[in-house]
Amino acid sequence: MKIFIVHAHPEPRSFNGALTDTARRCLAEAGHALVVSDLYALGWNPRSDRANFTTVLDPGVFRQQQEEAHASAQDGFAADVRAELDKLLWCDALIFQFPLWWFSLPAMLKGWVDRVFAMGAVYGGGLWYDRGRFAGRRAMLSLTVGGPASMYRPDGLNGDIDRLLYPIQHGMLRFTGFDVLPPVIAWQPARVGDEARQAYLEQYRQRLLALATTTPLQFPSIDDYDPETFTLKTGVAA
Ligand SMILES: Cc1cc2nc3c(=O)[nH]c(=O)nc-3n(C[C@H](O)[C@H](O)[C@H](O)COP(=O)(O)OP(=O)(O)OC[C@H]3O[C@@H](n4cnc5c(N)ncnc54)[C@H](O)[C@@H]3O)c2cc1C
Repeated sequence: MKIFIVHAHPEPRSFNGALTDTARRCLAEAGHALVVSDLYALGWNPRSDRANFTTVLDPGVFRQQQEEAHASAQDGFAADVRAELDKLLWCDALIFQFPLWWFSLPAMLKGWVDRVFAMGAVYGGGLWYDRGRFAGRRAMLSLTVGGPASMYRPDGLNGDIDRLLYPIQHGMLRFTGFDVLPPVIAWQPARVGDEARQAYLEQYRQRLLALATTTPLQFPSIDDYDPETFTLKTGVAA
């Protein structure tokens, strides 16, 4: 498989760094092709604005999605965005490696999505959800979380982790067509001790080796929604 990891952590010796090092070793041993975008090492610019493009559709008012569609048609993406788009279009499987920050993605990674998931190149014109550009490809979140798993149950203090991850797994990855695999989560790696951390690394290794065969999360098909109201048709379960 061709695997693309977008890695977002400021410290190479962090546990996130250890997880990506594990991926580098295990995927190479298994004969997979791997590309890693280490956003801090790259000096990635997370700010989305006219610098995303070499083309200009409207010099008076900046409307990002219109500029994205124009740049898609004119090959007008800036070199940093173009390079990430090429990696994205190349891969069979996309992995986001990140620490949970404020119940969400670090701004570096959110800014990567804001700039790279461009209208025209990645979605739009009827390409969305299971009809999306990346239909048939796989995506997975690998994240670390400061708190314990019990804190992220539906009855836990911080609420259900699946609900927190829904904007990423559904709103970004499923929206663009990926089959989204269950996330790999290392809970409170700073507190659990080395044995448990080694078990997290082994768990990740096993999940990487099963990337092609793991059953994806289930989401309704676009065909299950009324085309006018975008609500589920009668009788279809959410
Ligand atoms: C801005 C911000 C917002 C946050 N928001 C949230 C939030 O909303 N919810 C929440 O729960 N938490 C939150 N946190 C906490 C954050 O999620 C955790 O600190 C983070 O997930 C821990 O991962 P890490 O890679 O930074 O761990 P690190 O602290 O870097 O590492 C943990 C431990 O792993 C060890 N380690 C490193 N490499 C290896 C290796 N190869 N083998 C074994 N051990 C190793 C390290 O030495 C360390 O002891 C937030 C933190 C910040 C800074």
